[in-house]
Amino acid sequence: CGISGYAIYGASESIQAILNTLFDGLQRLEYRGYDSAGVCVDAPASEGSGTGPLVIKHQAGPGVPAARLAPRRPVPRGQLGKISDLRVRAAEVFEENGFDGEARVSAHVGIGHTRWATHGPPSAVNSHPHVSGANGEFVVVHNGIISNYATLKPFLEKHGAVFVSETDTEVIPHLCEYLWQKRGGRITLPKLAMEVCSRLEGAFALLIKSARYPNELVACKQGSPLVYGIKHDPQGGIRVWLSSDSAALLTHTRDIVVLEDGDVLHIDPHGHPQIFNALALTTNTLAARADVE
Ligand code: GLU
Repeated sequence: CGISGYAIYGASESIQAILNTLFDGLQRLEYRGYDSAGVCVDAPASEGSGTGPLVIKHQAGPGVPAARLAPRRPVPRGQLGKISDLRVRAAEVFEENGFDGEARVSAHVGIGHTRWATHGPPSAVNSHPHVSGANGEFVVVHNGIISNYATLKPFLEKHGAVFVSETDTEVIPHLCEYLWQKRGGRITLPKLAMEVCSRLEGAFALLIKSARYPNELVACKQGSPLVYGIKHDPQGGIRVWLSSDSAALLTHTRDIVVLEDGDVLHIDPHGHPQIFNALALTTNTLAARADVE
């Protein structure tokens, strides 16, 4: 199980190149073991713009008919393996939808995940990313276990959330949406993330991408590993990588920060990182927590 994230700011790249970076990141985490994988990028519409989050999932576990895994086109040598099945699936999704993978963007947030199922069997629908809303309002990848999901789930359903998976993770995007609505949208993404984390029990490393906060990213860590690395290029572009394992980032940068428990890393729409610690918000969040409990 592992997490991979990649964000760019002021640095022109194609969606395909961004996907490749995510896939490479996941491939470096393959040794941790997993049963399925998925990514979310913004679907390319035309030059320089995205149409919103596009989630691509792939189950690579037992029980998948071989025919479904069979690549439609030859897989390049050296790329065979389960993540390469996800690469093939992504290529198919782009082809089926007429997306141009070569469309370039100058700001973009992509997230990816390899899953080791704890709640809900390995399947495409249970694999991450998990979303709330039809337009990627909140998109989440998560490693770990949300031990109070059985309390949160009926609460969120009562408030209109529609769950599609059997995972513990899916409470996270719905909790994001619930709290966002509750604050009338007047809340920053890091503050929202801290409020969400204060309601989660268990162990987690998670990334949140949101159509409500274009080009922003938050990463939260409590008990599961999570690191980020950053690189500024001479032309002013900023690139940020996230991973469950710092070794996976070493080919990109030596500027790596290991997140600590309670940390919420926020990357703003200009690529500036800031780390908050959830403990700093204890008073507010405890007051807010009373709303859910
Ligand atoms: N508990 C989550 C699930 O079963 C995440 C598992 C993982 O760490 O990959 O989907």
